[in-house]
Amino acid sequence: MTEALRYKRVLLKVSGEALMGQRDYGLDIGTLKAIAEDVRDVVNLGVQVCLVIGGGNIFRGVSGASAGMDRAQADGMGMLATVMNALAMQNVLEKLGVHTRVQSAINMASLCEPFIRRRAIRHMEKGRVVIFAGGTGNPFFTTDTAAALRAAEMDCDALLKGTQVDGVYSADPRKNPKAERYVTLTYLDMLARDLAVMDAAAISLARENKLPIIVFNIHEPGAFTAVMKGEGRFTTVV
Ligand code: UDP
Repeated sequence: MTEALRYKRVLLKVSGEALMGQRDYGLDIGTLKAIAEDVRDVVNLGVQVCLVIGGGNIFRGVSGASAGMDRAQADGMGMLATVMNALAMQNVLEKLGVHTRVQSAINMASLCEPFIRRRAIRHMEKGRVVIFAGGTGNPFFTTDTAAALRAAEMDCDALLKGTQVDGVYSADPRKNPKAERYVTLTYLDMLARDLAVMDAAAISLARENKLPIIVFNIHEPGAFTAVMKGEGRFTTVV
C-alpha cells in the first residue's frame, strides 16, 4: 500500500487561528477533532506525520509588543501558547487512537519531551505523530519558520501548510472574486510577490533545503489525504 504514496514523511503546519473555528479566540474542540481525523487518516495510509501548531489563537508576540511589552518577553508567551495548542491536539489525536508525542523547543519535562531530533525520527518510524511545540525556542521567529526548520531536520519530503483556502491565490479569494489560484509557484515567486502564506524566513529555509511547500485547505474534510495522493486542489511551491 505504501508503495503508491508520494510522500513517506511530511510535516503539517497548522496555524493557531485554524483551531478557533467560529470563535474569536482560543480553541474550538470540534475544529481540532476534524483536523485530527484527517491526520489519523493520513497516518493510516502509512505516511509518517509530524505537526507544528501555531499559537496565534491565544497570543502573538507582536501584539504584546505593540501594547508596550518587550518583544522577546511577549514572544516567550507566544511560544507557550503553542505548547497549549500542542497538548490539546495531542489529547484529541490520542482519543482517536493515534499514538503521539509532544516535543517542545522549551523544556517542560512534566508536560512533554524535549526536542531531540533523532528521537523524534524514531517516534515517526514507529508510526507516532510527533507534535513540535514551542516554535524554534527563540523569540523573533514564527511557527512557520519552526515548521520549515523541523521539516528540514526531520528530512521530510514536503512541508504542508494548512490554510483557510485551497492554495495560494493572486489576492484573498474571500475578498476578491477575481483572485486566481496558482497550481505551482517557485519560492522566488512567493518571496517576490510577498504572498502572505508563509513568512520569508520559512520560504528561504524551504528553498535552501529543496523542501516543497504544499498549501491546501485544512478545513476541507479529506483534503490532507487527497494531497498525499496527489488529488484535490492545492498549490505546490518548489
Ligand atoms: N514564537 C516565537 N518563536 C518561534 C515561534 C513562535 O517567539 O520560533 C511566538 C511569537 O510570539 C508568535 C507566537 O509564538 O507570535 C505564535 O506563533 P505564530 O504567530 O507563528 O502562530 P500562528 O500564526 O501560526 O498561529
